[in-house]
Amino acid sequence: MQLYKLLLVVILGSSIAASIVLFGDSPSLRGSLIHRVRRWILNSLQSSVSFYRSVDNRTNGGLTWCLEWSIPVFYVSVITGCFYLFFTETYLEVLPLNIKHSIFHNLYIFATITLVYLSTILVTYTDPGRISSSTMAHRASTFFPYNDLIFHPKDCATCKLPKPARSKHCSTCGHCIMLYDHHCIWVNNCIGYYNYRWFFLFLVSNINLLFYGGLLSYWSLVDQFPSTSWWHRITSTTNANKTTGVFLILCSIFVVITSLFTALHLRYLYLGVTTNECDKWSELEYLVELGTLYKILDKNFPENYVEKSMVHDKSTDSYLQAYISLRNERILFVEGDESIPQMEPVISVEKDLVNIYDLGFWGNVNERLWNVYQI
Ligand SMILES: [Zn+2]
Ligand SMILES: [Zn+2]
Repeated sequence: MQLYKLLLVVILGSSIAASIVLFGDSPSLRGSLIHRVRRWILNSLQSSVSFYRSVDNRTNGGLTWCLEWSIPVFYVSVITGCFYLFFTETYLEVLPLNIKHSIFHNLYIFATITLVYLSTILVTYTDPGRISSSTMAHRASTFFPYNDLIFHPKDCATCKLPKPARSKHCSTCGHCIMLYDHHCIWVNNCIGYYNYRWFFLFLVSNINLLFYGGLLSYWSLVDQFPSTSWWHRITSTTNANKTTGVFLILCSIFVVITSLFTALHLRYLYLGVTTNECDKWSELEYLVELGTLYKILDKNFPENYVEKSMVHDKSTDSYLQAYISLRNERILFVEGDESIPQMEPVISVEKDLVNIYDLGFWGNVNERLWNVYQI
């Protein structure tokens, strides 16, 4: 009970502090207690950040390293604790005998647990496709082509190496990653070309764990007290029932969240994009909506697309209609220039822009899960 009270105080306290920080700067509150509390909270946050940075510098990045690994350690500890409680409470005391003595269910429980640990190890420790000078030397010819829309030839400012199309620099890992999807905090590793399959297996194994765990918990409770309410079954009976009830609630909530997240990745596979590319396509979509993305029709021009924008001309102190490079945001030409190439506005993302990386759903699945492509 003490723990619940503590949790309640922490949640209430942080909500009040967040509200004070968000709304405490309004002019009507200047000089009031709320305004002073807000300043104190912000100063404390700033001191905490400075303290964090100084400790991190003194330990040579050790503090950040500990924080990054604390989430995977937390995840593995929680599932291990749940497995222990499942066997000592649910399996031993309340699981129906026909399931407990079934070879199929015992094997399935073993496979479910093994798959969760195995996929976690694989996604955590597999190289996602870090780009090094040796990768550049041996694989450069097989990298994806640049599409001149969301990927352009350029060097990584940190690695000082050419940045292949579909790659991105991860500041947490300190490398550019081939076919970068995202940095997954649950396994403290990037998800890229070589470990997306293990990431997908990690998602599927967790859905299976939550769905099957929820089902076992439901079967353990459903026939015990046919005439009583579910709340009574979970709260007012034995410890084994309470634990199994908590499993049922947690599995029901997290199976929905994990399935929705997996469905999002299936959609990305269908569209032929990564999580990182989805953001980039959204930015282009926004430009098309504004009517400011133009396609250059002159084949000899070095770039295929430009963004129309207003820029300030210091010499005349006026604003000019300019066309900006998508590669490096440099002004290529302004309205009225003689060298202005022939171009037309992009009206629709679907009709006018081609995603050259989309190989169709099964092609994308083969490429991302089995690495069946030219690389
Ligand atoms: Zn880099
Ligand atoms: Zn990373």
